[in-house]
Amino acid sequence: MDAFTLEMTDRRWWTDDTFEIRFVRPAGFDYLPGQKVGFVDGPLRRDYTLLGPLEADHLAICVRHIPGGRFSPRLAGARPGERFTVTAPFGYFTFKQPGHPVVWVATGTGIAPFVAFVRAGARGFDLLHGARTVADLYYRDELSRSARRYVPCISGPVPTVYEGPPLYEGRVGPCLAERWSPGRYDFYLCGRGDMIRDVMAIIDTHFEGAHVFTERFY
Ligand SMILES: Cc1cc2nc3c(=O)[nH]c(=O)nc-3n(C[C@H](O)[C@H](O)[C@H](O)COP(=O)(O)OP(=O)(O)OC[C@H]3O[C@@H](n4cnc5c(N)ncnc54)[C@H](O)[C@@H]3O)c2cc1C
Repeated sequence: MDAFTLEMTDRRWWTDDTFEIRFVRPAGFDYLPGQKVGFVDGPLRRDYTLLGPLEADHLAICVRHIPGGRFSPRLAGARPGERFTVTAPFGYFTFKQPGHPVVWVATGTGIAPFVAFVRAGARGFDLLHGARTVADLYYRDELSRSARRYVPCISGPVPTVYEGPPLYEGRVGPCLAERWSPGRYDFYLCGRGDMIRDVMAIIDTHFEGAHVFTERFY
């Protein structure tokens, strides 16, 4: 697989533990919305999904800093000018021409491919955006503006004062089961493995004939 060198330019923190980090886009680097790159450091490799937009002169990813993790602390502490080796972009969790109404389900940084889809022009989707707190709803405004239906699902404490689309208090799975009427949908799920397992079980019992695409981050 080809390799590219990415030079870090800047970083913006969304919360205490999650940030967007940008790099100069190398010549000849083309990708599809939803694809990721592998950051390679000797035998270590960690994958991160590109946010888009496709035509930008930078590349961006959204990263959760895992204290004690083997690689994300390097991105959290990187300085402008620092270089990283990455694989060529790859992967099939890309947006397909919809056959049915589209429902996206994301938790945490699993929102990244959906940001890339929206930045490539996807519209009219439903999105269940799962997070522990309202502050963890990264890219909320950009996504909710383009959605047909956008439901933030908050599994932790809910603020008494909040401005934005009405919240669902609970996880994405129960929200899907309670709020979406039966029918045929194209589901796209991205995030934690236990979320994908739980939502798959709900799809199996509530949504016969669904198409399901999944991307498991960890
Ligand atoms: C296809 C794919 C795409 C990915 N895209 C992204 C992305 O866009 N943004 C991103 O932040 N991560 C993404 N990941 C996860 C990423 O590759 C790393 O696993 C993550 O950054 C942790 O790496 P680490 O070396 O710091 O921690 P490690 O030393 O590998 O792991 C430490 C512990 O943290 C847990 N963990 C891993 N990721 C998370 C997380 N996000 N939240 C909470 N706990 C976690 C692991 O289960 C493990 O127990 C993606 C993974 C895959 C497979």
